[in-house]
Amino acid sequence: MEKITMTTPLVEMDGDEMTRVLWAMIKEKLILPFVDLKTEYYDLGLLHRNETKDQVTIDAANATKRLGVAVKCATITPNRQRMEEYPELTEMWKSPNGTIRAILDGTAFRAPIVLDCIKPVVKNWEAPITIARHAYGDMYKAVDMVTEEPGTAVLTFKGESGAEKTLTVQTVDGPAVWQGQHNTEKSIRAFAKSCFQYAINQKQDLWFSTKDTISKVYDGEFKRIFEEEYENTYKVEFEKLGLTYFYTLIDDAVARVIRSKGGFIWALKNYDGDVMSDMVATAFGSLAMMTSVLVSPDGTMEFEASHGTVTRHYYKYLKGEKTSTNPIATIFAWSGALKRRGELDGLPDLVKFGEAMESASLETLESGVMTKDLVGLVEPGFRTTAVNSEEFLDEITKRLAKKLA
Ligand code: NAP
Ligand code: MG
Repeated sequence: MEKITMTTPLVEMDGDEMTRVLWAMIKEKLILPFVDLKTEYYDLGLLHRNETKDQVTIDAANATKRLGVAVKCATITPNRQRMEEYPELTEMWKSPNGTIRAILDGTAFRAPIVLDCIKPVVKNWEAPITIARHAYGDMYKAVDMVTEEPGTAVLTFKGESGAEKTLTVQTVDGPAVWQGQHNTEKSIRAFAKSCFQYAINQKQDLWFSTKDTISKVYDGEFKRIFEEEYENTYKVEFEKLGLTYFYTLIDDAVARVIRSKGGFIWALKNYDGDVMSDMVATAFGSLAMMTSVLVSPDGTMEFEASHGTVTRHYYKYLKGEKTSTNPIATIFAWSGALKRRGELDGLPDLVKFGEAMESASLETLESGVMTKDLVGLVEPGFRTTAVNSEEFLDEITKRLAKKLA
């Protein structure tokens, strides 16, 4: 069989622990036999980040900007415990995802992979709900303080021009607690653009919700910028594709989401997205079935799994045990990146290959062959065969080869 050809490489970011092991298996079994794979390879494994003083992360992000598509393996974000585990670390390197997100000015979209045999807790959800969380500012870059005596807090902005703006926050008659938050027009606009772009790419409606009835100025600014971007840049394309941009108050959105059938993108401010993404992920089933894609305002995309490096399984693997780690979210990161590369380069065979990877994976699961983490989640009466990661990938490969023959 002739291999599917690629024209432009995609950026490949390798990672850590169990997901690094799965990464190599997925390439070897599912991709390399069928595709003449072209990647620019960056090793974001912790020790290589350390050797390069984290320059490799920056290089990988810049390469993504240049090539437009990336696929990333889960990586360790070092904490104190990891510093003890890896004594050679010269610094507690920052989260690679944070570094990449900042360079790409991107928004992360998280979507569950949905199966017939695993029903969401919310029984009317038929299609995935994708959450887009704004990842800059508000409470996450706030300053806080506690005060002990009666008094007044003021909010002052000092412009570079020398002009000042001051507001009284509140006068209190006793101990109090305070918080100062901000966001930037630039970040909100980049968020809006990424959301509209991704909705067009996915051909799905976009919902956006804030609390602008109470936070008239702050949340009102988010609402205004989204509306402006929609009217000026995206409305024509939305109408052509029959898509809807729908703004509603967050209280109303929460009620509607629960009653909905799913199948749309829900854009949320930083805190709302933090909370709602955990709720939606749990209601759909498992973290091992959540994909994530980082989208820049210009349509650059970086695909990955939402879960981490699955450390507990890695230590079993090091002892020589076969683990039943679920590779689905990582497979879908690869298929997403290959499909995007195919779309951008006008390579329908590559797009079809990505789709075939996904349908072969889903058919394997629907046949009852799955990793252990999913066995407890299936509908009563559904017969399953629990397999290890390698057996699971072999089953998918069999189905994939048939589809491509
Ligand atoms: P984790 O790797 O997501 O794993 C937490 C637990 O969830 C696992 O122990 C496992 O449960 C289950 N799980 C997650 N993915 C699974 C899969 N594919 N198949 C089967 N079970 C799966 O989170 P963590 O243990 O908190 O973090 C480990 C490392 O990952 C940390 O160093 C963190 O910095 C990093 N991390 C990276 C990213 C990223 O790169 N995007 C994201 C999050 C965390 P059982 O043990 O019960 O089987
Ligand atoms: Mg959270």
